[in-house]
Amino acid sequence: MADIQKSLVLIKPDAVQRELVGEVITRFERRGLKMVGMKLTLLDEATLTEHYGHLADKPFFADLKKFMMQTPVVALVLEGLDVVNVVRAIVGSTNPREADVGTIRADLSMNVPSNIIHASDSVESAEIEIKRFFNDSEVIGYDKMTDKFHFGEGV
Ligand code: UDP
Ligand code: MG
Repeated sequence: MADIQKSLVLIKPDAVQRELVGEVITRFERRGLKMVGMKLTLLDEATLTEHYGHLADKPFFADLKKFMMQTPVVALVLEGLDVVNVVRAIVGSTNPREADVGTIRADLSMNVPSNIIHASDSVESAEIEIKRFFNDSEVIGYDKMTDKFHFGEGV
């Protein structure tokens, strides 16, 4: 049974620098994912230490945090059926050179950490990550004419 879920996406500093923000958002829009949160935000080290806590023992941890603070990022909350897995599939695997052609990372990037985008990897982490970057009032539900096509009841 498909669930309506939310996922947290960060469009990373490399994409901001390379003027790929619109391209990335367009891919989600065209797929039929609903934007219910969006902001430009400069991340601080404490937030990144928490966000990338699963990588704290890695040698690249400090460089990763530095990279993520180079410019603001664009944070998105996307809503849709099974959206956590759908977004991860659109994003592609961590190393862009090994990602499937057609994914954002494979089509637009060549390297880590500069792989364009972060996306939540489970429903549980999405809930935590949305709260990390958005206040409740910044996640805004609304009706769209296209909901019937994208949320399971369309004909
Ligand atoms: N990363 C890195 N070096 C590595 C592995 C990961 O710099 O060897 C960065 C990369 O930007 C990646 C992020 O750390 O997107 C988070 O890593 P994770 O394993 O959670 O991958 P993701 O969920 O982003 O695919
Ligand atoms: Mg991850």
